[in-house]
Amino acid sequence: MPPIARIEPLTTARAIRGPFDYRLPPALQHVQVGALLVVPFGGRDVLGVVAELTDTTEVAPEKLAEPRSAVEPGIPAELVGLARWIADEYCSTTARALALVLPPGAGRATTPRVRTRRVLVAELTHGGRAALETGQEAAAPGDGAASEGASTPGNAAAPGRAAAPNRAVRLTPKQRLVLENLADAGPLPAAQTGADHGSLRRLADRGLLLLEQRERRRRPTHTAVGARNGGAPPRLTLEQVKALEPIVTALGAADGTLNPAERRFLLHGVTGSGKTEVYLQAAAAALDAGRSVIVLVPEIALAPQTVARFQARFGDTVAVLHSQLGQGERYDEWMRLRRGEARICVGPRSAVFAPLDDVGLVIVDEEHEPAYKHEGDPRYDARRVAARRAHDEGAVLLSGSATPRPESVHALRRLRMLRRVDGRPLPPVEILDMRDARHPLHPVTREALADVRRAGRKAIVLVNRRGWSNFLSCRSCGKVWQCPDCDVALVLHRSQRAVSCHHCGHSERVPSTCPDCGSVTLARHGAGTERIEQELIDAIGDPGFPVLRLDADTTATKGAIARALVRFDAAPAGVLVGTQIVAKGHDFPDVTLGVVLDADQTLRFPDFRADERTYSLIAQLAGRAGRGPHGDGRVLVQTLATDERAIIAAAAHDSDGFLAGELARRELLRYPPFASLIRVVCSSEQLSQAHAAADAVMRMIDAPGAQVLGPAPLFRLRGRERSQLVVKATQRRAAVQSVAAAVDAVARTPLGRRVSLSADVDPQ
Ligand code: ADP
Ligand code: ZN
Ligand code: ZN
Repeated sequence: MPPIARIEPLTTARAIRGPFDYRLPPALQHVQVGALLVVPFGGRDVLGVVAELTDTTEVAPEKLAEPRSAVEPGIPAELVGLARWIADEYCSTTARALALVLPPGAGRATTPRVRTRRVLVAELTHGGRAALETGQEAAAPGDGAASEGASTPGNAAAPGRAAAPNRAVRLTPKQRLVLENLADAGPLPAAQTGADHGSLRRLADRGLLLLEQRERRRRPTHTAVGARNGGAPPRLTLEQVKALEPIVTALGAADGTLNPAERRFLLHGVTGSGKTEVYLQAAAAALDAGRSVIVLVPEIALAPQTVARFQARFGDTVAVLHSQLGQGERYDEWMRLRRGEARICVGPRSAVFAPLDDVGLVIVDEEHEPAYKHEGDPRYDARRVAARRAHDEGAVLLSGSATPRPESVHALRRLRMLRRVDGRPLPPVEILDMRDARHPLHPVTREALADVRRAGRKAIVLVNRRGWSNFLSCRSCGKVWQCPDCDVALVLHRSQRAVSCHHCGHSERVPSTCPDCGSVTLARHGAGTERIEQELIDAIGDPGFPVLRLDADTTATKGAIARALVRFDAAPAGVLVGTQIVAKGHDFPDVTLGVVLDADQTLRFPDFRADERTYSLIAQLAGRAGRGPHGDGRVLVQTLATDERAIIAAAAHDSDGFLAGELARRELLRYPPFASLIRVVCSSEQLSQAHAAADAVMRMIDAPGAQVLGPAPLFRLRGRERSQLVVKATQRRAAVQSVAAAVDAVARTPLGRRVSLSADVDPQ
């Protein structure tokens, strides 16, 4: 019986469910699980991944097709297992999940789009070195020295043969310079030697240097914001020591002596308590134990300091993987990880798929961030995948946050750090009641900002909404400007002279009159980042006190976020105003004031995580204030909801109290972590069809302990009517399987073909 490979063809079609059996020809019998093979499939050649190897098949082996060839590099076998798990866990297909773990540039095409870059490199040989030491300069100027041809021609692989120790080699001044360059700098790309190809070739022919094609790594470049500490680890605080100890113990524990739950930690430490230092030292311990490390950050643009600190500590052992890299850079970083040249991978959620061997530690920084959830199929949550990967590899999971999710508090071993490294208290938080306010900035806020300017310090102002105002209405007839394709109001962006939809991108010119009644008086409601920026400039801005805005409108281009952060960091004083981006993880020492405008805005979302988000937003912003040598920070929270639990708890820095209350509430209402949620959305041009499909799915869901809510209408999006089901399940596995089966079955009906269905496990 020839060996059989079970292969997943990489197609996106949902209806195709592999793996399919292929017979391995003699030339491919050495392939492993994870190998990429070109296989005939449905009348054409496609790329496929070997999911299993076997020697049994239900079909007669001679009837099986044979793969044509292998494509290098393949995927590590563990990642194939992880992808198959993701497909099941998130109602997707194995082919789509495998697409997450492919080498950069390998896609559905049967030839990879990126390869290792090779360049011609010149390196001094022993002979060349000897020539420099003993050689004399040729009398005749120019390259065509008389001694050329004296050595074996055309044999670059014979270093040293030409320069017999006792025979002086003649070199022109130019040749000597080239060799001296190589002696100083080591091997150089031919283009950087200062000599043309012909001259190099002649020196190589004389055995004085070696010329060959070598791999040349494309190094990611990125803007580092204030990596303030160099390589040497500081002395840990007592709290850091205590947090690190059980982590290091778990890293050193032999296989099987700890159960998986004992290897999962939550580092719950206030902002500035030195969590990153704990990550760094835990990573060092993992490397010492000969194992590799994955470090997940929510968004690479927001984590330049974390990346820089890992690079400063571990140098080239660190590889970064993220979508802002060029494809060549990404490929080279991936290969460095694959070959074990780099042992730490830092990156956003996709870095959980780093092709590392023997992972010993998986770190999830700022684990509360929603960015860990992937919004395309498969809709995986990198935090859950991280836990799974750690489990599979017997690794330690280390999640960290100042505002952890109730889910993590419930499931992980918690390590608490209550004090900032610098010993300063967290800044006081004042709640400002905006119910009678006539201006978007409370008088106390204005005064505090003026103080910051007088003192020459910095402030951060958070407005959770971009644009100028939230919506426009006609003062005479009350018409509200809405998106034609979505049931939402259009937001005014004054600098673009447009009103636009934040859901689909539809944009139109700012109206001057009402089309319904002809009135010219239009009202603008609410204030977004653009308007607040202007208010701040009017109130306090001057050339010595710049107002910088950071939101999706100002950071649309690649690298813009990092540039804005660098500018703010470098400015001696000023204000940074923006959306949530401004509250995330930055460490600016001279920020003394943090302001949250409309703190209740996130509370108004109809989402069971609204309180958690609000708490975290305020606490994270508070974490940016008062970090530096100037002492006391101060935080102001403007809100209409002065007695909301999340806001009061955040003002009191009462993380434990907030989490306890949140867990009690969720247990009562059966929300995560006490149940899993699965959301099914059916969309169609007609609401009745969307509802009918949702209804059909609902009737097919059959899982013990699952409660199905809906169908309920969702607002129209991109011209499509939507209907939603929410499944609350206590037995996750069974519920996910049942929902996946129901969605697939309905999708195959005539109705299902007119509706698009999607299932989202653990929706955000
Ligand atoms: P967190 O991630 O908990 O907000 P960081 O890790 O950013 O905190 O630490 C805050 C600051 O304190 C950083 O500038 C960091 O370099 C510094 N720091 C951390 N640990 C120590 C230590 N043990 N001694 C001195 N400085 C430290
Ligand atoms: Zn009108
Ligand atoms: Zn729209």
